[in-house]
Amino acid sequence: MNIQQNVPLKEKNWFKTGGSAQFYCEPTTDQEFKKALEYAQTNNLELFILGDGANVLISDDGFDGLVIHPQLKTITHSENVVTAGAGVLMAELIEYCLNNNLSGLEEFSNIPGSIGGAVYINLHYFQFFLADFLVSATLIEKATGNSITVDKDWFEYGYDDSRLMKHDYYVLNATFLLKNVSDIEVAYAQGRRVEIARHRMSRYPNGHTCGSFFRNFHDDEVTVTSHGKKVIWVAYYLDKIGVKGVLKSGDAIVSYQHANMLVNQGNATSNDLISLAKNMQELVKKEFNIIPQPECLLIGFKNYPLIK
Ligand SMILES: Cc1cc2nc3c(=O)[nH]c(=O)nc-3n(C[C@H](O)[C@H](O)[C@H](O)COP(=O)(O)OP(=O)(O)OC[C@H]3O[C@@H](n4cnc5c(N)ncnc54)[C@H](O)[C@@H]3O)c2cc1C
Repeated sequence: MNIQQNVPLKEKNWFKTGGSAQFYCEPTTDQEFKKALEYAQTNNLELFILGDGANVLISDDGFDGLVIHPQLKTITHSENVVTAGAGVLMAELIEYCLNNNLSGLEEFSNIPGSIGGAVYINLHYFQFFLADFLVSATLIEKATGNSITVDKDWFEYGYDDSRLMKHDYYVLNATFLLKNVSDIEVAYAQGRRVEIARHRMSRYPNGHTCGSFFRNFHDDEVTVTSHGKKVIWVAYYLDKIGVKGVLKSGDAIVSYQHANMLVNQGNATSNDLISLAKNMQELVKKEFNIIPQPECLLIGFKNYPLIK
């Protein structure tokens, strides 16, 4: 496997911003992934695992260390159990499943990202979470390069939380339990896919974005209530400060469709996106005395670039 140097990351993430990776590789097998980890250890390099780049904002200064972009692309199934490599895209897996009369994952239609990134974040859309389908996964340990197979409980999924966020294990592949369905039911699932795509297109921007930039609040962070319940939705607060489609920094703008989505209109830098996000934090703080924090992963920044 070739370890390259000074590889631009701009075209490898959905914001289409950011600098270069000092070192970069694309392992296609578990063995190559292990070799990449050894390389990082031998050369004392920081590590970052890049999936499809749909939930990251990469610093304009790039990433000092080794970026591993897994290209583990195998998909297999037996009965209603399907296993996909970390580098398989969610869209590719949904397509495979429906072609093989397996239903369930189509609820995640049109959400960008790889299986590695989806397991990391516990991909979610309305009431559906990827963990509802996940049964087990094979992980590689950062420190040793040993692989282990774990069941769903290992991840300790919580609200915006999982054991993978400690970054000491990485996903090689994941196994999902789906429903075996008839051809008619596959046609229904295809219809659902189209319906979700249409719904998402009307609600979310189509441009260069990372989806939701800020995470929702935890119950104990907010005091505002509606119908007797705490308002944890960050978009509620962002809507109230009136930033949608108007607040800008350089070529970065808050989407006119969704107050929690930042969009690179074409020539924005990561710095533009950061100053826009910071401005949003300040406005919410001024109005509600709470500070939104990012769900999007900030990569390669020497210091935390937003307000804590
Ligand atoms: C337009 C748009 C809409 C979106 N809508 C939604 C939505 O409805 N629901 C939702 O949940 N998300 C949504 N997102 C966010 C994004 O799709 C998910 O977070 C997705 O899972 C990111 O996957 P990725 O492969 O791109 O991960 P990346 O962005 O590349 O990485 C994200 C994190 O995952 C880690 N990671 C990646 N691969 C591995 C691996 N093999 N092992 C361990 N860690 C790994 C990375 O290190 C990083 O910390 C949206 C994003 C966009 C751009």
